[in-house]
Amino acid sequence: MGFTYEALPMRVSFGAGRCLEVAAELDHLGLARVLVLCTPRQGETVRRIVDGLGDRSVGVFPGAVMHVPAEVADQASRVAADLRADGCVAVGGGSTVGLGKAIALRHGLPVVAVPTTYAGSEMTPVWGLTQDGIKRTGRDSVVLPRSVVYDPELTISLSARLSVTSGFNAFAHAAEGLYAPDASPILDLMAEEGARSVFAALRPILADPTDLDARSEAMRGAWLCGAVLGATTMSLHHKLCHVLGGTFGLPHADTHTVVLPHALAFTLPAAPRAAAALGRALSVPPDEVPLTLQIVSTGLGAPGSLAELGMPADGITEVVRQVMASPYASPRPVVAEELTGLLLRALAGDRPA
Ligand code: NAD
Repeated sequence: MGFTYEALPMRVSFGAGRCLEVAAELDHLGLARVLVLCTPRQGETVRRIVDGLGDRSVGVFPGAVMHVPAEVADQASRVAADLRADGCVAVGGGSTVGLGKAIALRHGLPVVAVPTTYAGSEMTPVWGLTQDGIKRTGRDSVVLPRSVVYDPELTISLSARLSVTSGFNAFAHAAEGLYAPDASPILDLMAEEGARSVFAALRPILADPTDLDARSEAMRGAWLCGAVLGATTMSLHHKLCHVLGGTFGLPHADTHTVVLPHALAFTLPAAPRAAAALGRALSVPPDEVPLTLQIVSTGLGAPGSLAELGMPADGITEVVRQVMASPYASPRPVVAEELTGLLLRALAGDRPA
């Protein structure tokens, strides 16, 4: 066995109530004038954080949008420049962290992330920008947040549906990290523990969304899964979700949740070590991993089919075309006919095969 492992620099502050200590992180990084980013819906959460920042906060930009439209990134960048901000604090899910990354890409402003979902963007040097309906992505170390403050209390307000689907989004990072071409023993440990942790937390969270132990378990798992995402190359599952989201505007976490059982049913037979690790994470035999994910996610109220998310049946040909035109690395060679079958099952919500 041979591998190369490069650790990404990451500073993490974790714990209930830590969102009130963001000021200490800014002082540690030497940031004195930050622009706070959020979505319009998260104003209340942000107000508490801004109060704790005192005069280190020079403004709030509450306009983060899914997939970072270029015009929103332009607007937020102008606000940051006008306010002479020396950094950004991104409070929210992948969309808000993505906006912070877009500003960092243009102006080099350091990002402090305060995640409120399990998407994991805060652990990656991957940025995305959408212009004229096309999402471009790239890797640049300048966008990797300098510090991440994980406060499980901030996830208590997540809806039941987003708690589950965002958890499965995190699980997907771990799953594909286990069979990535740049996998390594240390990332395998993080992936298996991350997947186990997120999965174990979901039922208790649904039973009691205010259960702080379960929220902490999910967030700790999401951190590990995000770190795996940031350090490895993703495969067919992420490619499919990228194409489906970009082409039909399907919601990010929902799409991951529906596609994952089908993508893993296709890939895991060619990745037995990954299947074994995921089997241990779910406490099921390796060949039952895909069906278990589907049964549990739909049982917890997540959508079960791409049709439910608004995917048109005649869109399959275009998805297959795009995936085959620029495939990601996959342990199992991807064949157009098999891909069509996979998508038909995902569209209808059939069992993974
Ligand atoms: P999101 O950030 O779009 O949030 C979804 C909705 O949930 C928003 O309306 C938001 O206001 C709300 N929300 C978020 N946290 C909440 C909370 N705690 N309580 C109540 N409401 C809350 O969703 P997401 O799934 O976190 O992120 C998806 C985006 O992130 C996609 O654009 C995806 O491509 C990107 N992403 C990027 C990376 C990367 O490495 N670059 C990784 C993962 C995801």
